[in-house]
Amino acid sequence: MTNPTIIDGTFLAMKKIEAVREQVEKICSQSLRAPKLAVILVGDNEASKIYVRNKEKKAKECFIDSETIILPSDVSKEELEETIFKLNLDEKVDAILLQLPLPQNLISDSFDEKYFLSLISPSKDVDCLTSFNQGRVFNGSSSIYPCTPQGVLNLIDFTYSDLDTSISFDSIKSANLAGKSALIVGRSLLVGKPLSLMLLNRNATVTMAHSKTQNLQDLVKDKDIIVTATGYPKLFNSQNVKDGAILIDVGINKLENGKLVGDLDFESFKNKDCYITPVPGGVGPMTIASLMENVVKLYKNR
Ligand code: NAD
Repeated sequence: MTNPTIIDGTFLAMKKIEAVREQVEKICSQSLRAPKLAVILVGDNEASKIYVRNKEKKAKECFIDSETIILPSDVSKEELEETIFKLNLDEKVDAILLQLPLPQNLISDSFDEKYFLSLISPSKDVDCLTSFNQGRVFNGSSSIYPCTPQGVLNLIDFTYSDLDTSISFDSIKSANLAGKSALIVGRSLLVGKPLSLMLLNRNATVTMAHSKTQNLQDLVKDKDIIVTATGYPKLFNSQNVKDGAILIDVGINKLENGKLVGDLDFESFKNKDCYITPVPGGVGPMTIASLMENVVKLYKNR
């Protein structure tokens, strides 16, 4: 009987946070100011409040300055615009994160979330969501990459480094993905699309699937790497997944009993020879660690 090997995202994120903290300590030891992250939180979305609190906590651990600007859910379009413009001009702010989703009353046909994201200065756009930075992800010339896809790539590289826990985060090598076949399920601007380009830029052969794709269970066949980012539990099971495959589950789904699960039918993989991320404890911690890494990169760029 074989077992899946768990890819421990909590461990890898801790290593990444240590590496970021060392960089910030070095900056501060030269009597320079610490890098600063500004987060804009609009409205009362409970999940968003938890995410923002976690980000503040991680920033503190890395000695990164952080400020959260809380705006009421009935904030006007002009007030939100003004908040973003002020942060763009603030010399002490290196990175801006607009927490999504925005309240429905702010969204219209002409001004959707993409509109507000586009107001962030590309040099402070910490999750690479402005069109300018997306273009740079597209042509492979960006100095930073969106946080979740970056975390996914780190988890893949860590797995190809034999999950060696003795090495430092910075010594994990970029795996040679030439000739590897990858399936990405989900085509969002936040995860699936940028990840497909990042894997393509690393020479993987990429297949994309989404809500209109037929026969997903057949598509998983022969893939070396499978990433799911749909928010749809039990998307597929271990049937047809090849031995030794790497499965990265980005999805976060809350079941009726309150349990958090990913997109994969995790139970079905319990006798499978594969590498798999758990939910929670896989991609989630890596996303926050990548956010901290990006804050420091933007600080250095400026
Ligand atoms: P999204 O809603 O913007 O996109 C979902 C994508 O999944 C769409 O492209 C859709 O076509 C596809 N999809 C939906 N149902 C499908 C199905 N049955 N079969 C195939 N494809 C299907 O979502 P998102 O922002 O990309 O997030 C996806 C999931 O990842 C959510 O559960 C979200 O909470 C989670 N997430 C986790 C992290 C993290 O750090 N762990 C970060 C971002 C998102």
